[in-house]
Amino acid sequence: MKAMKSKWLALFLAVIMTFTLLPSVVFAAGADTGVAKIGDQTYNSVAEAITAAGSNATTIELTQNVSEDVTIPQGANITLYIPEGITLTNKAGHTITNNGTLTVTGAGTVDNVTHAKGALVNYGTAILEGATFTRSAEASTSTTSSGGNSWYVIDNHGTMTITGTANVVNNGYFSSLIRNIGTADAASSLTVSGNATLRQDNFIALKNDDYGNVAVTGGTITSNEQAIQNWSQASISGGALNGQVITWSYEGFASATEISGNAVVNGNVVAVNYDGGTSIPSVTIKGGTITGEISKATYNNGLQPAAPDAASSSIVVSGGTFSNAVDSNFFADNFYLHQNPDGSYSVHEHNMVMKYDSENHWYECSVCGEKADISAHTFGEWNITKEATATEAGSREKVCSVCGYQVVEEIPATGDASSAPTEEMTNGTTTTDTDVNSANPQTGDNSYVFLGIALLCLSGAGLAGTVIFRKKYSK
Ligand SMILES: [Zn+2]
Ligand SMILES: [Zn+2]
Repeated sequence: MKAMKSKWLALFLAVIMTFTLLPSVVFAAGADTGVAKIGDQTYNSVAEAITAAGSNATTIELTQNVSEDVTIPQGANITLYIPEGITLTNKAGHTITNNGTLTVTGAGTVDNVTHAKGALVNYGTAILEGATFTRSAEASTSTTSSGGNSWYVIDNHGTMTITGTANVVNNGYFSSLIRNIGTADAASSLTVSGNATLRQDNFIALKNDDYGNVAVTGGTITSNEQAIQNWSQASISGGALNGQVITWSYEGFASATEISGNAVVNGNVVAVNYDGGTSIPSVTIKGGTITGEISKATYNNGLQPAAPDAASSSIVVSGGTFSNAVDSNFFADNFYLHQNPDGSYSVHEHNMVMKYDSENHWYECSVCGEKADISAHTFGEWNITKEATATEAGSREKVCSVCGYQVVEEIPATGDASSAPTEEMTNGTTTTDTDVNSANPQTGDNSYVFLGIALLCLSGAGLAGTVIFRKKYSK
């Protein structure tokens, strides 16, 4: 039994040693010989790994901090995984220049420390799902002072999506955090979605330049200056923009911003005609929530407010919720302001439906309750819908020709032969004439008949005489 135990113990120890040694061997190889790996294969530079990947869709993982200017060539399809705690920093140029297809994942960092260079310049297709992009040596101090080290963190000329948990952040005062710029032949496209965060407190966060298309469907864009400066086409249907959204135009470059859906703008929305040209900025608000003011402006050494009806800018509001009342000049046709119970404002298209009471008819908005065109009913002639008989009441109605309001009245029964007053009448005796002339008000079932006769008398002696004559003649 002792020998058996020793044998098993030895085997056990051998197994333990194998498992404990194995990882340290792999780690040692990575630490000594490579900065990146594809699967188990390590590479001494990101460039070597990219070359090895060729045109195959390949994930390259950074295994330690790297200082390198990385270029993704046309035709390559690289996923760059940068684990938390690892930073890719440039040497002298842009940190990453993408001409192919690039996806960035992980919780690490892409940094650029050189003046006039960016962390990522994209000419191909880039999807940023993770990582922090920044310029840690940014030295600008104002809009006129670069401090010798300032530029965009990201410059997009191609197609880019910033999504997932990607984070683009900088502390510049001179360069926009992100520039999106295309050419007359090929517009650039930038989408911000998911839980992405873009933040530059003291200067423009996202500058959408000439021939640029921006779509914000999610994420958070923060700047005390301009969250979005749009010179081209921007669609904001989601996400949160903490800062102003300003749409600028200059001659030959009309611009357009549409705000809709669940977008939240915690800031002003302004349409600025930069040079007084005929190409105007256009802001369309179809939804979303806006806490700031909505206004038009021109630019002449600073923003100058323009009248709400100025033709130099266009603002059309047909939806959305606002902390401040929106100027009626901005409402789309047939849209009106409405204050909500919580004090906020919204706009809606009047849905005017006809309403009435016993006196009047009018139009009333089913949304806000506004009334218009209150006027008295216009009744036509009484229409007898059921003739009264001696024993049964009839009915008559009149209808308003405008609203259809209907008044229905009962016509009392004419009374039967056993009824004393009627009997006298039908007998055509002098008693009847006396009764008619006396026009005594009667109560009960016969009142209608007597009232009718009384009215005939009042309407004129001639008419009354005719009735009497006819009665006598027909006898
Ligand atoms: Zn209304
Ligand atoms: Zn009416």
